[in-house]
Amino acid sequence: MSIRVVARIRPLLQAKEIERDIIVDTAKLPAEKTDSKSVVRIPNPRNEAEAFSFVFNSVYDQEATQAQLFENEVSPTVKHLFKGFDVTLFAYGVTGTGKTHTMRGGKALAERGVIPRLLSSIYRRARKVDKDSEGASRVEVSMSYYEIYNDRVFDLFEPPEKRTPAGLPIRDIGNGKTQVVGLTERPCTTLKEFEQLYDQANVNRSTSATKLNAHSSRSHAILCVKITQTTGDSVRVSTASAIDLAGSEDNRRTDNNKDRMVESASINKSLFVLAQCVEAISKKQHRVPYRESKMTRILALGQNNGLTVMILNLAPVRSYHLDTLSSLNFANRTKKIEVNEVENQPFFRDVPSGKGKLDSDDKAISLGAPSMH
Ligand code: ADP
Ligand code: MG
Repeated sequence: MSIRVVARIRPLLQAKEIERDIIVDTAKLPAEKTDSKSVVRIPNPRNEAEAFSFVFNSVYDQEATQAQLFENEVSPTVKHLFKGFDVTLFAYGVTGTGKTHTMRGGKALAERGVIPRLLSSIYRRARKVDKDSEGASRVEVSMSYYEIYNDRVFDLFEPPEKRTPAGLPIRDIGNGKTQVVGLTERPCTTLKEFEQLYDQANVNRSTSATKLNAHSSRSHAILCVKITQTTGDSVRVSTASAIDLAGSEDNRRTDNNKDRMVESASINKSLFVLAQCVEAISKKQHRVPYRESKMTRILALGQNNGLTVMILNLAPVRSYHLDTLSSLNFANRTKKIEVNEVENQPFFRDVPSGKGKLDSDDKAISLGAPSMH
């Protein structure tokens, strides 16, 4: 299975952008019978008479609502999550193109992003499992939330003043998965509880604004929602990861002081490494440089993500032209990555660790409570 790549073009920002500056548009493939669009078109910066076209799994234009994006792209993954597959959703794009709007969204019900809608859907399904099994199956939800900033991992449940400057270590736990060591994991039994924890953690994303970007545009925010389904002795764990990546812009274009330059260089580095990984995988090269940044180790595209959906956020206007084109090229290569859908096997509570009922084949790797990343 390939990574699903969908593009979303945000509307004009009132007061800042005007109709005349729109350069990105959408189209249907000639053969398509439905209303859905799958082509993004953008002029060639060297010759505007010519347009480049990029084909994705689907394309959402200015009119698309938060609800539509969720229903089409994310809602279908919830079923898989409950079957024991991991799900990874990530937003890629230049700062100001709508990544945070897409993932987190606004407070108003209609403006809620993918993350609160996903949780809402998970709780709904959990209640159904409980009801259908007449209480024999139980679903527990817990979350962890962290950011990667300057190639260091910080727990977003810790207030910034309590962070250790070096950040938290990560380690490989097999099956292409990694784990952040010492990360807080909070149970959240209701949507309300989740939202309180999530909002509080978002406050901990530090807010030192620079000329063009806030801190948040230079860090990757990674939310992991762990679902534990228990029926009798059998326990099945799966994880949904929702990632709001740092802005993919070319930071050499912003003038900033020295500190900021270090950050820029580092952000550039992890997204640069990601681009190299994607390139290596799409060309089926043997060596993929995952290990060269923490973000790529954690995201581990094409390693073992279960279902993966990439949302490519785009601004429609000319001021983003070159960065938009480079985002589109990146996304175009990402499409080609194949992911294995590996099911997380259930494990059994009373089995002493290390001596599972399963054979010591590859399945046994998922014994024990795995994978909060
Ligand atoms: P990013 O996280 O990629 O830097 P934001 O999510 O902060 O970008 O979006 C930049 C601005 O554009 C915000 O003011 C946001 O509210 C607005 N915006 C982005 N996408 C949409 C959309 N689909 N509909 C309405 N406003 C949007
Ligand atoms: Mg953002």
